[in-house]
Amino acid sequence: MTLDNIIEEIKKAEKIIILTHETPDGDAIGSSLAMKVALKKLGKEADVLIKEFPKVFDFLPHREDVKEYSDIENYDLAIALDCADFKRLVGNEHFEKAKQTIVIDHHGSNQMYGDINFVNPVSPACCQILIGMFEYFNIDIDKELGTCILTGIITDTGGFRYSGVTPETFEFTSDLLQKGVNVSDIYKRVLETKTKPNFELMKKTIDRMEFLENGKITFTYITNKDLEEVNAGIGDHEGLVEIGRDVEGVEVSIFVRQKENDENIYKVSMRSNEYVNVSDVCLMFGGGGHEKAAGAVIQGTLEQVKTKIINELKKVI
Ligand code: 5GP
Ligand code: MN
Repeated sequence: MTLDNIIEEIKKAEKIIILTHETPDGDAIGSSLAMKVALKKLGKEADVLIKEFPKVFDFLPHREDVKEYSDIENYDLAIALDCADFKRLVGNEHFEKAKQTIVIDHHGSNQMYGDINFVNPVSPACCQILIGMFEYFNIDIDKELGTCILTGIITDTGGFRYSGVTPETFEFTSDLLQKGVNVSDIYKRVLETKTKPNFELMKKTIDRMEFLENGKITFTYITNKDLEEVNAGIGDHEGLVEIGRDVEGVEVSIFVRQKENDENIYKVSMRSNEYVNVSDVCLMFGGGGHEKAAGAVIQGTLEQVKTKIINELKKVI
């Protein structure tokens, strides 16, 4: 069984690296740090590589151990978490050179790029996959480990709101509450605390929001100039795509953001409410994600990018 293979590889390895996707969110960071803590409990040290670490997650255990890069050439084992696509994996050169590779993820669009792939698209967060895995490995999920895992669950389920939540999500949260994890504190830190730049960007995105296709689609954007104006830091664009989706009658919200190194490349984020599979739409542009939350990178001017997306969405809306 895959889980037996995973523990076998972990036990064999001496030099281990933990990797996750670019523009890391709470699930990416939570699952990476959870894996670090779990490996420690198995007597293994591991490097965690995360380049753009948003400040909101600074409270997480072992934040100080996170590296921006590593000069170790050949790891025995590389573990990729919450990342569907080799291209989006930060530090993928270490993954490529590692003797053994493991992919743990919950994206339906996962490309199964590891030697061992443990992918469960029904799990609402990569962190939730880790619960069953760690239990199988007989690792005690204590306050520290639980805090990392719960952070990923809370962020990827929008605070237990999305349709992907399962009975296990609540059972686990309930267990953690009993163990003394401050659920409401984590919730407040990762979902309800806005940085000032994030708030300023929110005002701009709302102001510019267009309603298209009889109000079924919203479109809005942020440019590099905007990011400069509000003095935006890492992760300050998070959550902006959600605003449009919450408006009555909207099926898909689109948020695009200019890439800092090229004004004619846009990072696209999409969310849907009921019937549009935005992962399929994003796959048309070489991206992917989940049915109701997905992204891609598209070339062109703002107008061109917008037209490309809307034309694709018109087919399914
Ligand atoms: P977000 O819109 O929050 O950046 O991403 C939503 C979901 O889509 C996440 O699960 C993320 O991993 C995935 N996603 C975002 N951008 C891309 C992309 O360019 N390629 C792929 N394959 N997935 C993406
Ligand atoms: Mn995730």
